[in-house]
Amino acid sequence: MNRHMRRRKRCRFCGDLFWPDRRIGKKQYTCSKPECQRKRHNHNCKELRKKKPTAERERRLVERLHRGKEDIKSSEPREALQWDVARDSIGVETLVVVEEIVRLVRSGLRDEIKTELTVFKAKIIQQFPFKWRDSIDRRPVPS
Ligand SMILES: [Zn+2]
Repeated sequence: MNRHMRRRKRCRFCGDLFWPDRRIGKKQYTCSKPECQRKRHNHNCKELRKKKPTAERERRLVERLHRGKEDIKSSEPREALQWDVARDSIGVETLVVVEEIVRLVRSGLRDEIKTELTVFKAKIIQQFPFKWRDSIDRRPVPS
């Protein structure tokens, strides 16, 4: 798009019109003057500090949810989380709903993976149609 087909914007800090950077687009509300950039930076920091109490509480809860759990990436959610912390935090009913959703998603994923594997195996066999020794020794029979 031609530079002049875009609309100029008014800087939130100095009030001058400026051409927004096309990479930033609609979100840009500050011109490129160093003074305005500094003000924007200070403004963003202030906004972040306003949000920080929540962010900090969230971080602490996540930490408590995993405390004492070595393998937080375990494929078994029961082993990766402190479920009593979760229960105390969101209540029994919500926790049961969450567990049920997790169970359904896992079951759906398992089915999806099984289907994908079957299709993948069929493709491999089609690509390499040699005879297989038997169900134990899966190395192809030399031709
Ligand atoms: Zn400005």
